[in-house]
Amino acid sequence: MTARADVLAANLDVVRRRIAAACAEAGRPEDDVSLVVVTKFFPASDVRLLADLGVTDVGENRHQEAEDKAAECADLGLRWHFIGGLQSNKAAAVAAYADVVESVDRAKLVAPLSRGAHSRGHPRSPEVDVLLQVSLDPPGAGNRSGADPADLADLARRVEEAGMLRLRGLMAVAPLGEDPDVAFARLADVRESFVRDHPEATTLSAGMSGDLEAAVRRGATHVRVGSAVLGERPTFQ
Ligand SMILES: *Cc1c(COP(=O)(O)O)cnc(C)c1O
Repeated sequence: MTARADVLAANLDVVRRRIAAACAEAGRPEDDVSLVVVTKFFPASDVRLLADLGVTDVGENRHQEAEDKAAECADLGLRWHFIGGLQSNKAAAVAAYADVVESVDRAKLVAPLSRGAHSRGHPRSPEVDVLLQVSLDPPGAGNRSGADPADLADLARRVEEAGMLRLRGLMAVAPLGEDPDVAFARLADVRESFVRDHPEATTLSAGMSGDLEAAVRRGATHVRVGSAVLGERPTFQ
């Protein structure tokens, strides 16, 4: 193995053990929680090494970078998760390569996502899985990303009515400056009532390098882990 492959293998091992330990502590089976490795800012060569190490799901947050990497790595059969802020004029293009769009937070995105999904002609997975990103910020906070919990029902209905999109669940990021366990406890409540109305939409994407244990404790089915696997990203982002 190359030196880089050794580093990624060792980091992955640590992250997988953390997930397993968090599952054990929460009394959940280990295979309840899937790992999405967030490869933003890192090259396609790293994605290739990760695929060799058994990674099946990768996450990206910027359209151009994601599109290029997905094309470069098309032979690997990975599932591509789009996890970043989504502009409505890019949404159709994102739905052409992303298998899961995790950051749907407003109605305006639904029609272009559906249009992009129709055009993708993806033999392996024709439909695009959709998660609604829910904001855990206090109401009225500036710069929120994610839908207000009160708007989820309407957004879910629009996704369900659109063609080629499959509503799979919710995604959230813990707000800075708050104990993630407290934020994810709020998320668990939101999710409980959401799943009552949408029994198929059981995915909960929550937890990153710094707070995956709290997310698993509060019911996450997918954790999105970047720096703990790939190392620190450049700080200019
Ligand atoms: C970058 C990013 C992650 C990964 O963050 P790390 O702290 O590097 O694990 C997870 N979720 C979203 C939405 C991100 O943008």
